[in-house]
Amino acid sequence: MSIKRSVNIACPGCGTTQDITLVEVLNAQTDPDLKEDLMHNRLNRVSCSDCDIDFRVDLPLLYTDAKAGLMIHWVPENDDANREQILEEFDEVIERMNAEAGEEVSVPNVRLVMNRVELVELIYMIEAGMNQRVVEYVKYSIYTRNQEKLDPERHRMLLNVEDSTDDELLFVMQDVDDRELGQVLRYGRSAYESLLELFADEPEEFMEMFPGPCISARDVLLEDRA
Ligand SMILES: [Zn+2]
Repeated sequence: MSIKRSVNIACPGCGTTQDITLVEVLNAQTDPDLKEDLMHNRLNRVSCSDCDIDFRVDLPLLYTDAKAGLMIHWVPENDDANREQILEEFDEVIERMNAEAGEEVSVPNVRLVMNRVELVELIYMIEAGMNQRVVEYVKYSIYTRNQEKLDPERHRMLLNVEDSTDDELLFVMQDVDDRELGQVLRYGRSAYESLLELFADEPEEFMEMFPGPCISARDVLLEDRA
């Protein structure tokens, strides 16, 4: 079952406040229609009752899909919460969950993302049976090989699962500020598959590089820089 809650929100256009119902926990198995809304950027959208502006309200969302063994927490990064704070709070939530369960819950299956495109990308990736750590490793190597052109500070790299083929994985660069999609990069699927074999033999290196819950090449690169 999905969980909704009512919040009072001010319109970013005219300031009129209204009570709206937002999805807080999305259960993809029981509510596939809500999942469709999320994938098509229709979830938690509101039309202002006064000026008719249409806007999206980004509040933390827990996406669960028991069949896929997946739990993704989307905590929007904004002026009030930066990545470090979000990660700290996330650790506290996991600790509380452990305390309540009286045992260690399997944290590796809980993922943390900080914006909607990353959430949608991850859902596609997992449903296509891809290995997220290996995909992020591929991104890491593309970034580091194209340092002059690809700045992780300004550009987010997204895997386009739907348009990838048997031969090639397609990545698209997104401008972090205006969210415009730009350059498309191709990566041979055979190279990805070789990395999968490496992962099967020696997962430790990948685990060390991307321990979770936030598995992101861009984060690793930005941390290295800091
Ligand atoms: Zn309005």
